[in-house]
Amino acid sequence: MRRVIDTIRDKLCEPDAVFVFPSEVAASFWRRRSLSLTNRRSVRYERFISWDTYKERFFDAFQDATPVNRQVRLLFMADLLRKNAENPFLSAIILPEIRKTWRPFVRYFARTLPILDGMLHDGSIQSALSIDLRSDYLEIRKRYGDFLKNHDLYEPGYESPTGGTISAIHTVFFPTVIQDFAEFKSLIRASNVSVVDVGSPVSRPILRFANAKLELRWMCVSIMELLRSGADPGDIAVTLADLAGYEDELREHARRYDLPFDFHLGKSLSNHPEARLYPLLSACFDSGFSARTLKELFLNRTFPWRDSDLGIQLAKFGIEHHGLQNFTSGNDYHDLWQARLSSHGTTRLLAFYKRFSQAARRIVRSRNMKELRRRILAFSAEWLDSARFSTQALRIYSAALDELPKLEESEDTLKNIDYESPFSLWQMSLADRVYVQPSSLGGIPVYPYRVSAGIYPKYHFLPGASHDTTTVRSPPYPFLPVTVDDGTKGDYSGAFLSLYRSSGETVMMSFGDESSSGPHLPPGDYVAQDSVETHQTVQLDSYALEPALWSGHKREVGLVYPSQLHGSAYCESTFGVPRELDITGTPLGVSELNSRIMQRLSAENGEILITPSSAQSWAECPFAYLFVFGLGLAEVDYDVRYYDPREVGILTHRILSRIIGDTADVNVLEEHIDLSRMLYEEFSKWERTMPVFLPIQWSAVKQRVEEQIRTFVNVDTNEFADSCTLGLEERIEIASFISGVRLAGRVDRIVKSGEDLSVIDYKARVLKKRSGIVSKDGDVRSYQLPIYSLLVERHYDRGALLYYDLNEGRYLVAYGRGPGKPWFEEHEWQNVLSSVGKTIEKMAQSIRGGSYRAPAPRGSCNSCEMRSVCREKYVHA
Ligand code: SF4
Repeated sequence: MRRVIDTIRDKLCEPDAVFVFPSEVAASFWRRRSLSLTNRRSVRYERFISWDTYKERFFDAFQDATPVNRQVRLLFMADLLRKNAENPFLSAIILPEIRKTWRPFVRYFARTLPILDGMLHDGSIQSALSIDLRSDYLEIRKRYGDFLKNHDLYEPGYESPTGGTISAIHTVFFPTVIQDFAEFKSLIRASNVSVVDVGSPVSRPILRFANAKLELRWMCVSIMELLRSGADPGDIAVTLADLAGYEDELREHARRYDLPFDFHLGKSLSNHPEARLYPLLSACFDSGFSARTLKELFLNRTFPWRDSDLGIQLAKFGIEHHGLQNFTSGNDYHDLWQARLSSHGTTRLLAFYKRFSQAARRIVRSRNMKELRRRILAFSAEWLDSARFSTQALRIYSAALDELPKLEESEDTLKNIDYESPFSLWQMSLADRVYVQPSSLGGIPVYPYRVSAGIYPKYHFLPGASHDTTTVRSPPYPFLPVTVDDGTKGDYSGAFLSLYRSSGETVMMSFGDESSSGPHLPPGDYVAQDSVETHQTVQLDSYALEPALWSGHKREVGLVYPSQLHGSAYCESTFGVPRELDITGTPLGVSELNSRIMQRLSAENGEILITPSSAQSWAECPFAYLFVFGLGLAEVDYDVRYYDPREVGILTHRILSRIIGDTADVNVLEEHIDLSRMLYEEFSKWERTMPVFLPIQWSAVKQRVEEQIRTFVNVDTNEFADSCTLGLEERIEIASFISGVRLAGRVDRIVKSGEDLSVIDYKARVLKKRSGIVSKDGDVRSYQLPIYSLLVERHYDRGALLYYDLNEGRYLVAYGRGPGKPWFEEHEWQNVLSSVGKTIEKMAQSIRGGSYRAPAPRGSCNSCEMRSVCREKYVHA
């Protein structure tokens, strides 16, 4: 870099000297650096410029007439591909059979336009192009030429540069990494413009780490040591060669080590969450306002909705209605949202939905850019409270809106252009625009590879510089098939590596064998020069030493980082404080709090109420029982479920109750019911009052339920021909044999056949074996039938216990005389009841004593809804 520094020192005193660098980052670096090199207090901004700015300012071809821009190319290509879809004239680059789905190709082919002319005149390519491919490209070139002519435009990529005002006093630095430098070489030579390259590369090894985490940790600790030894953050720079594998990790390291990194990493505007609002809005519209898309839109905290509560309520309504969405059948659009919201009488939500769906429809269906811009601005004002955007988020959101006037301006200058969807074109334009967050922080800059080529800080770190991430290829015609362009042209990898080897007084290039972007190998040049050093030193920073401190092996860890201080503060204010209340380990005892919890767990007369489901819950985990039954907690569930077996079960039970209820004293079901009418009435009632599945699912459910009901009527008529129903969906409550305890439960059906009594439970998913009720070791697994047994025998008599399997249409006998062999003999069932009795006794005792201790985990924690509040790993610590 000596030559670069000497040139700037020598020429800066000449007022017209201009210094040209490959990128704006390098120009800006040397603009600042020139002051310290020459002891000047200021320098004119436009004397240090990027190559792109230089071309615009000093070469003639770019100053006449109106050049096309990115937006105009998009508009032209969308119009061309739409015409091709209607009357095909392309046969190879878009196959005729897929021409109607042309939208995904617009951006891609718009990018080929500036290099199309060069390709068609490149003799080395022509012979390899197939006749069809060449004919397609010629046709596009012809139409593009006509378009440019008709609109008084020119394509800069087609014009040969002319000298303009370039002069010998100008200097271009690092031409080997400027991709289109060759096109200007002769003009530059003729004008005696100085060209300065980096010279012979410095020989430096590359450091190899086992993975990106170790590599970044080493880098951060090294930077901290530099800062602690007095280095100025402005003298340090970081270049990330592997953005995908390192960016998130580096941000995390910056937070942990409290390093003032200043990220200058641009990414496509459409990848910023703030610019995702309108694609999500369009997804809502395209999906018929599906509950899933509304959830993504209204539960997204990036967007400052004015009516966020209503938005969330609307999304929840859709989720509760099993993924509600509108649909089209034939030519008819079915607005299910409107129908369901109307039938459920939710007037406010209905008005909100209508306003929202109309606004979304108007935006997505805008006919031109002017209309789209007006509608987007109206939407922003009406629906968003932009004052609640952070400054950074507002900048990104505004940058997305800023594309609209540019598109509108381009559209205004073009005639006879029809590209169908202004909204899609706007989104394509956002995907093409790279947005870099403006920096207001200062600090240690972090750049992407290539962009920072040409800077020369005192300390330059280049993590993630592996073979694949330092490969820079820019083939002249990237859109050609590999059979035509083998990709050997346009390889700039070596040039960039050479420049980066000399890119600082101290350059630390490194890579990790593994990063989140995959496995990596060292760059080929370094391997060839045997210049890859495996980093062996184990760096011990405060994080590595902390475990030794807590285990008492060390007395201090040196520097304590801010995140460790925050962590310590959290510890101190949470588990560092003696707990006033620790229900997981210590019983509440007879306290005010426990008497309140007991109130919630008791019947009106003050006795502890135990049902099959509460006993089941307590037996699995008393702590979970406290949450669910004592405190009434339930998980808020935003999962979209298009099918819910629990609801199908409720529907089936309702219909069964009606059938049996209507015929309870007649005994022979088949002859006395009009099943079709009954099913129709019950389904209609359900549709009016309950959340219904989407139409296709609902039809299938109705069909399945009808089959099950018809089978049931047949089976029941055979099995219980001479019976009568004593109880139906009957809630039975009894004072238990344990004092102060009340047992309760709702029994599906109690049938009397002669002297025999049967208790029946209808199930879609039946416990098919006795091991579903009691394990081999004698542990009770299901409390339902045993507690039913206790309830019924007190009220009626000891009876048989049966499951009816709705899916298979058959009875299964758990105990007693019935249609099949019972799973339990008399004495075995007595043992089960005695075991259940002991559990109820223990349960009552523990509730009275306020003891809800969590048992050792047996796997039930994995499916427990209370995990997030229980923090089971601390409970069992
Ligand atoms: S997570 Fe485990 S310990 Fe905690 S309540 Fe649930 S089942 Fe009990």
